[in-house]
Amino acid sequence: MPQFLDYSDADFEARFTALLTAKREDSPDVDAVVADIIADVRARGDDAVIELTERFDRVALTPDTLRISPEEVDAAIAEVNTGDREALELAAARIRAYHARQMPEDAQWTDDVGATLGWRWTPVSAAGLYVPGGLASYPSSVLMNAIPAKVAGVGRLAITVPTPDGVLNPLVLLAAQIAGVDEIYRIGGAQAIAALAYGTETIAPVDKITGPGNAFVAAAKRRVFGKVGIDMIAGPSEILVIADGDNDPDWIALDLLSQAEHDESAQSLLITTDAGFGQAVAQAVEARLQTLERRAIAGASWRDFGAIITVPSLDVAAALSDRIAPEHLELCVDDPQALSAQITHAGAIFLGQWTPEAIGDYIGGPNHVLPTARSPRFSSGLSVMDFVKRTTLAQMTPDALRAIGPGAERLATSESLEAHGLSVTARLRKLNG
Ligand code: NAD
Repeated sequence: MPQFLDYSDADFEARFTALLTAKREDSPDVDAVVADIIADVRARGDDAVIELTERFDRVALTPDTLRISPEEVDAAIAEVNTGDREALELAAARIRAYHARQMPEDAQWTDDVGATLGWRWTPVSAAGLYVPGGLASYPSSVLMNAIPAKVAGVGRLAITVPTPDGVLNPLVLLAAQIAGVDEIYRIGGAQAIAALAYGTETIAPVDKITGPGNAFVAAAKRRVFGKVGIDMIAGPSEILVIADGDNDPDWIALDLLSQAEHDESAQSLLITTDAGFGQAVAQAVEARLQTLERRAIAGASWRDFGAIITVPSLDVAAALSDRIAPEHLELCVDDPQALSAQITHAGAIFLGQWTPEAIGDYIGGPNHVLPTARSPRFSSGLSVMDFVKRTTLAQMTPDALRAIGPGAERLATSESLEAHGLSVTARLRKLNG
């Protein structure tokens, strides 16, 4: 059973704070292992990647087979049935249409002193997309990473995906083909991140690495940041459902379980204005846990990190939600748009009882790579913006330099940076004869 909290209880604040600060991942040794793996890949390139892949994924590779060949891709894809192909194509089209709207615009204007100012956006040249593959396969993550990169205009896209025991996932390869990515390496974990960041004899380095992964992948991304850009550290999944009593308890139970089944460290929370409904959802979760395929994982997550919170009003629910800052937030209430307007901190919001969070995982259009562990307070899900950068532009006319140059001279003097000041002074002298 999960925890039950009631806003009117005297110990509510203490218990709610404990819920917010509970540590859901504990992996002190991971970083040390990852540091060694990165150092090894930097020192020995392909040889290290090949050895580590044999050790962790039980696949024997050579430099020639690190990359999945176009023939292997075609052969694997031929196995995919029409229904799966059509679902992936529908998802890709919807994700592409959504992300196309995110492309930011260049700007340029001339201000009151005659200076022409602005900025322009350009794509990163090469991106590496990590697709997890250790315990499960994620064709949807291929689309969610590759399509925004393509929309941004990234020139080169390289995917890494571990293939435990050498088994290729045809849907992952098909998703890569649909998204227009043909550089795919069958490697995973920290060694894949290191190879993408530093390059090896056969894998050219990239400029930015995106995509979710396990603790080893996350630790490696943290370590290579600076050499390359990264999107975010996306940890174990979370869902918060705010529901009134006018919902089917079984639907809400399934929505909670849809995140709990990702990981034992996932967190599923329900805030409701109806204590009886909360009890009904708890019973529905227990009933579903009898038969759910991933009941061991989902059950552990629900028992250790799940909670049902009863509140007196939706206003209180919204305030608590902002303190939680969840990755996924479902609003199963009468007027979800109005409640949504009260929410400031959430990775993705799903409005109304006809919008299960799983729609967002696959096919709605928005991205499913989202910030976790309360980081929606300051960051956003993966988007086209992760694959572009902004270059600022400034052009002075003689009159503009005459107008604002003296200010620069004074500031340079105050910072004791003589050449800075003189670079302006020399031009002003020329202008002033
Ligand atoms: P993975 O591809 O992330 O990791 C597999 C790799 O981990 C292996 O290739 C191996 O190199 C490395 N590894 C495993 N054990 C190791 C050890 N003892 N020492 C060193 N390296 C080791 O696949 P996974 O394990 O299935 O994890 C996927 C993760 O991604 C899950 O936690 C899942 O919840 C998460 N995920 C998140 C999102 C999101 O959007 N937030 C989406 C999909 C998946």
